[in-house]
Amino acid sequence: MRITSHGAAGEVTGSCHLLEVGRKRILVDCGLFQGNEGDYTRNAAPFAFDPRSIDAVVVTHCHLDHIGRLPLLAKAGYVGPIYATQEAREIGRLILMDAAHVMLEEYLGRKRKAARQGREVEPPPYGVDDVMMTVDLFQRPVTYGSPVSLGDGVSFTLRNAGHILGSAFVEIEEKRGGGRTIATMSGDLGYRGRAVMPDPVAPSECDFIAVESTYGDRPHRPVAESRDEFANAVKEALASGGNVIIPSFALERSQDVLYYLHEMWEAGDLPSDVRIYLDSPLAIGITRAYERHLKALNPKLVAGLDRGEEPFEFPGVQFTSTAEESRAINRFESGSIIIAGSGMVNGGRVLHHLRHNLWRPNCSVIFVGYQARGTLGRLIVDGANMVRIFGEEIAVRASVHTINGLSAHADRQGIVDWLRGSGKAHVHLIHGEPNALETLAAAVRSELGREVTIAEPLVPYEIRPVE
Ligand code: ZN
Repeated sequence: MRITSHGAAGEVTGSCHLLEVGRKRILVDCGLFQGNEGDYTRNAAPFAFDPRSIDAVVVTHCHLDHIGRLPLLAKAGYVGPIYATQEAREIGRLILMDAAHVMLEEYLGRKRKAARQGREVEPPPYGVDDVMMTVDLFQRPVTYGSPVSLGDGVSFTLRNAGHILGSAFVEIEEKRGGGRTIATMSGDLGYRGRAVMPDPVAPSECDFIAVESTYGDRPHRPVAESRDEFANAVKEALASGGNVIIPSFALERSQDVLYYLHEMWEAGDLPSDVRIYLDSPLAIGITRAYERHLKALNPKLVAGLDRGEEPFEFPGVQFTSTAEESRAINRFESGSIIIAGSGMVNGGRVLHHLRHNLWRPNCSVIFVGYQARGTLGRLIVDGANMVRIFGEEIAVRASVHTINGLSAHADRQGIVDWLRGSGKAHVHLIHGEPNALETLAAAVRSELGREVTIAEPLVPYEIRPVE
């Protein structure tokens, strides 16, 4: 067995790994590069392998940095199967369609601007048609714990990674000459003790385990602390008599936020006439997927179902799909909690809500996710007095709260503890920035006494059975 990582070492996007197992070539994830200059070129560049030579694609989960280049793979001639859980298939379709629409809008904007300067621009890397072609390749859904045979003594099993709905880590097994070798790919690993997702299950004993290292260099605070801080920020914000804006990512964070509000509702911590808007068509679509698969969520949430609880659509919650419904939210000057994208405030409906509320001292903005440098969200978090929205200067007078620790990723200790289940497996670190990779490597060596390597892009690593 041999693994080659295509662009996911030293960074946390563009996850894509080629495993050569006997005569089979298996691709685990095919993600988009995001968040850095030059990503457009990297995403549009041809693959370093021949897409037609791949026998199967296995998807760990449907964040864009794990599936965003699948349409490019299909466009480049891949016609084989794509395997994922049922939940991941449903979310994948929504995420890829949305990505194609966002790319098209960006392109039309750039094109108009370039035309005025007499220039031409590159078309988007893929469109809706390519996404349709990709979605057609999704196979019969894979169930956690049920092996799927790829022939020639090669099979794989998905197990619940507890990261987002439908997320999995993959155990790939090769049987040859009476022996067997198992290689495990972590995908993204969840953080233990979260509200909506269950904890990740332990890996089986294996020979090789590639593990994500996003937060390999730091601890998270306990989830309960962040939930309390969030609840207090909401109560304080509503008490000041204005509206509350929560910029949020559509996948996973919006469902977490709705569920924390649900807990507040059940505890009697929200006014009985509160209006909570989920104002994002993508987040609404994804929340409906969560609602179709409630039994797959955290056992505590599932227990609430038996008591008749509605974890995401409890009284007061409204899903606003159309632009008209979204605009209508602005007629209320107080008592609304508005969850809208984009999570980093660099586009989306949250912009028009901020234009209406950011300058009003009795309103509040609660950030629940990381704000990258260069985004409007980051400017507000960093204390700007004035920001530009739709070409207009808007004063920042609303109170601004930042809730850290609502991460969907395991922290350093979480990763190390998860690795214990893998027996004596060789540990191969992927999907992390340089400092996270180095720090995690040191922790795995000292705490588990394992051999550790750090993936280098495009450099194959030979997987050998442990003695
Ligand atoms: Zn992820």
